[in-house]
Amino acid sequence: MKILFVVWELDPFFKLGGLGDVARSLPGALKILGEDIRTITPYYKAVKMGRNKKTLIGKLSFEYGGRKQRIEVWKTNQPYTKVPAYFLKNKKYLDKATPTDTWGFFNKAVVEVIKNNILNWQPEIIHINDRHGGLIPLLIKIEKLPIKTILTIHNLAFQGQAKMKILKDMGIDPELCKITKWEIKSRQVNFLMEAIIHSDTITTVSPTYAKEILTEEYGQGLNDLLKQMSGKIFGILNGIDIDWRYTTHGTAVRYPYNSSEKKTDGKIEYYHWLDGKKHNKLFLQKKLGLKVGENIPLICFIGRLDPKQKGLDILHTLLRRNADKPNFQFVLLGDGDKNWEERYKWLSTFYPKSFSCNFRFDETLAHQLYAGSDFIVIPSLYEPCGLIQMIAMLFGTIPIAHKTGGLKDSIKDNYNGFLFPDYNSISLEKSVTKAIDVWRNDRFEFEKIVEHALKTDFSWTKSAKEYKVLYEKLLSNS
Ligand code: ADP
Repeated sequence: MKILFVVWELDPFFKLGGLGDVARSLPGALKILGEDIRTITPYYKAVKMGRNKKTLIGKLSFEYGGRKQRIEVWKTNQPYTKVPAYFLKNKKYLDKATPTDTWGFFNKAVVEVIKNNILNWQPEIIHINDRHGGLIPLLIKIEKLPIKTILTIHNLAFQGQAKMKILKDMGIDPELCKITKWEIKSRQVNFLMEAIIHSDTITTVSPTYAKEILTEEYGQGLNDLLKQMSGKIFGILNGIDIDWRYTTHGTAVRYPYNSSEKKTDGKIEYYHWLDGKKHNKLFLQKKLGLKVGENIPLICFIGRLDPKQKGLDILHTLLRRNADKPNFQFVLLGDGDKNWEERYKWLSTFYPKSFSCNFRFDETLAHQLYAGSDFIVIPSLYEPCGLIQMIAMLFGTIPIAHKTGGLKDSIKDNYNGFLFPDYNSISLEKSVTKAIDVWRNDRFEFEKIVEHALKTDFSWTKSAKEYKVLYEKLLSNS
């Protein structure tokens, strides 16, 4: 099958979060299954081509915003998976990954590239991700192209609302958008909503989230619409890259380790996890200025500081409550909301030997945290899938997480992690206390939990097979 994977970020060229990881790995896993899948992304100024050889394969002009706009189409290969990667360049609209106008232009450009056969290759399926490709399914219908479309919702909270003018700029008659008639009162077009209506199939990134989004609580205002579409919504849990040689794991982590005995694999020498964890933890404590000692449990948090999603409030309450007498160390790595940055900074300023808060995007430190921490705390109010718990488990770092979405689908309480049922600081604290108690007082049980975590299969192969079945179903319905 020929599949074009339309995505806004692609590791290692440009990454903002989990979507960049997915864009690297899912197409890679589908390629291994024999699919002809390729990615297409804007060529922002911030894209790092590194040593990858790129070729200009075509140029194209089309009307946008009442003017002729030119784009260049570049091609390279994703360095690890060798999946062909196309990049679209235009100074005015595609230099920066911010304004919604960029999405409108990008969506139009993707469809024009296909219509004019610039890739010299025609997809049978276009797989869009989140709001960024939201108007592509509608454009495909308008152009009557014989292509099926599939939308993956990675996070329903980000819907991409833009002024109606964007439809005019793209040359779309608002009358053709069923829902924009309804939306017109607010003079806004909703990219994700358009994608939900016009895609042939929809997936979300975990089975639990696929159910949650049909409820008022998690539906972000789109639950009624999603309920009408429920027959075409499927939940497929994301995976992660498990090969240390092709990810930052290999370069950032001082002491690589795995579940079995010490061994050498090519250039990498692996420790047994018990030794690897100890060495990485001592290294991390020194690096961050924490009190050094292998007998202090270390808990980390890695992620966007998004106050509406990531559970910053209940985590902060728990830390404040324990700040004077912490029986653990805590390290935060994340950036985002400035108010929360200040509040967390206060903790690390007053208790520098116990708390370390780092407000930046830092892949190296992230991996050193995965490797050197005993636990990762994930107090998210909702989590469509979450990759961090899976990456952490690959390092035998035990998640303490809210029982929701993909966290619920990937963690079994007391087996390979700890889940807390209610979204409040008391429920979270109970789970943290229990986890630390097992860590300190029942090493046999704790090591069993780590072994389970290390052996849980989060490889992409399983998810890729499920996507393959969906693609086949889509084409057989043509
Ligand atoms: P989301 O997609 O909601 O941001 P995920 O758990 O799905 O959350 O994925 C987050 C990804 O981004 C993981 O690969 C994680 O390691 C990475 N990440 C998040 N914040 C940072 C940071 N501050 N520095 C480095 N990596 C980060």
